[in-house]
This record gives sequence, structure tokens and C-alpha cells, in this order.
Amino acid sequence: MAFDKIKTSQPKVVQLLENSLKKDRLSHAYLFEGEEGTKKFETAIYFAQMLLCKSDVKPCLECNDCRRIKHGTHPNVYIIQPVKNLIKKHQIADLQSEFSKTSIEPGPKVYIIRNIEKINVNAANSLLKFLEEPFPNIHAILTTSNINRILPTIKSRSQIVQFSSISRDIVEREIFEAGYDPETSRIISNLTNSASHALEIASNEYYLDLIEMIKDMFNMIYTKEDSLIIYFNHNSSIIYQDKEISSLFLSMLIIYQKDIINYITGNTGNVVFKDELGTISGIANHKTKNRLIDELESMLSLKSRLHSYINERLAYDNLLLELERR
Ligand SMILES: [Zn+2]
Repeated sequence: MAFDKIKTSQPKVVQLLENSLKKDRLSHAYLFEGEEGTKKFETAIYFAQMLLCKSDVKPCLECNDCRRIKHGTHPNVYIIQPVKNLIKKHQIADLQSEFSKTSIEPGPKVYIIRNIEKINVNAANSLLKFLEEPFPNIHAILTTSNINRILPTIKSRSQIVQFSSISRDIVEREIFEAGYDPETSRIISNLTNSASHALEIASNEYYLDLIEMIKDMFNMIYTKEDSLIIYFNHNSSIIYQDKEISSLFLSMLIIYQKDIINYITGNTGNVVFKDELGTISGIANHKTKNRLIDELESMLSLKSRLHSYINERLAYDNLLLELERR
């Protein structure tokens, strides 16, 4: 895990945690709340290191404590995650018995519960009892991407720490550093602000086919040499097999369409498909801004209706007719 990135990804959270440690105002329970990919778990590990590190600058990330926490082998740091989508009572009981063992080292103890919204009622009752009798030096870090599903009793006993969305630049850099080319990094960082979700998209086996299709299609709109509908019907089997792929396809189509609008309005710097500037400027010269916006709205509308009962083929045909109209 890249801990050096936590300070740049979540500066406010890190500052809040640093301050509470410095001023000796630590809570017994923290609820880390924010969408997927905002590095809540990584930050929880980082915070545990801050609490247990004995160096002057905490966390040093190098001492024996910091290293064992990173590797998940420190007896004072206990991690619970859902098993088959549930956190059960025995997991809370295991935590309590683990923390009463003699193998525990002096100093703070930290337990981290990921996806706390997945806790079942019995487990929640045990946990609440544990939270209600705050033992000195035991800290809970609970994480969730879905604060609305957290029991009010858990919320009221925790200090809620909000994680903000990771900025697009950071996601783009992370995809690039994972070995993808600049164009892929740019496109995908526009689709999600979760680095882990971004990497999932990049490794989708159909991703490159979809990109290829989109480039071909806009090129046909520009050159008008081939029928868009015939081309699409010939290549669309990957899209119709799965609504998720269809949705990804439309999302990228929408990025390209926005690129053309950005080009027309002089925001060339915002163009994502930078390698396609020739085609983009060609289309921009042939269509009005209002028409491009109408087309964009049709794309957005189709994407929003995708998961309802629509005739997907007919809907795509209508969209393509609109894009191809002379
Ligand atoms: Zn350390």
C-alpha cells in the first residue's frame, strides 16, 4: 500500500487525526465515511501506525511497530472485515478475546472494522457494549461507504470523519503508475474517482474493444463514409451481452461528445481523447453547439434508462440515427 499517498489524497483527514493525537484528544471510536476508493482503510492503517509508532515523527513507517502494522502482524492492531457480506457476532467476540490475551504489547490497541454497515444485529449489540465501556487506550476505527445504513447507535458513539472524493488527477496518476498508457489513464480517471474501480475498468477484457469502437464511430460521423448503424450492429454483441458494459460504453461515448463540445467552446485543454483532435475538430466544424448538446442529452438519457425495461436495440438505433443525421 502506498502510504505516502494518503497525505496527498486526504490531507484534511490526516491533519484532523494528527491534531487530535498532538492535543491528546483522541476519540474511542472513529467512523471513517466516504465513497469507495477514498482510501479509508489505508488511512485507518496509517492512523494505527501514528498511534503505535514510538519515533518522534509519527508514523515513521520504518520502525518495528509501523512495519508490523503494515504487514498485519502487530498483536495490538486487529482487523475485522465482512465474511460473505456480513459481520457476525463471533467476529466481535474473537476481537474481545484477542485483546484480553497476554501477547498484547503495552501501549494503545486499535481495531478496524471495514464496511461496518454490514454488521448484523447480534454483532452490533456486542459491539455497542464494547463501545459503551471505553477502555483506556483502545480505539475503534469503523469504515463505511454507506453512512445512511449505519445504525444511529453506532453513529452517535463515534466521531464521524468525512473522506472527500479523490481528485481526478490523483486517479489518473495512479492508473498511469500501474502501467497503463496516458490516454487510458485520462479516459478512465474521467469515469470514476475511485482508483481501485479505475483499475478494474482498465483491466476489463472489453475495454480496448469499446474504445476502438467509439473512435471508429466518431470517425464515421466525421467522414460519413460508412453507415454508423450497420457498423454498430456488426460490432455491438459485446455491448448487448451485459448492461454494465453497455453503460461503460455510453459513459465513454459521453466523454467523447463532451470533448467535441469543449473543443467548440474553446476549452481544448479539457479534451480527454487528445489523440483524436483531428476527428473532434472535423465534427465540431460540421455540427452546431446546440445540436451537439441535444445529442449529448440523448446519450445521457439512454444511459439513465439502461437499467429499466427498455428496448435497448431500438434505443441505440434511435441514438445512432440522431448522430448520423445530415
Ligand atoms: Zn514508526
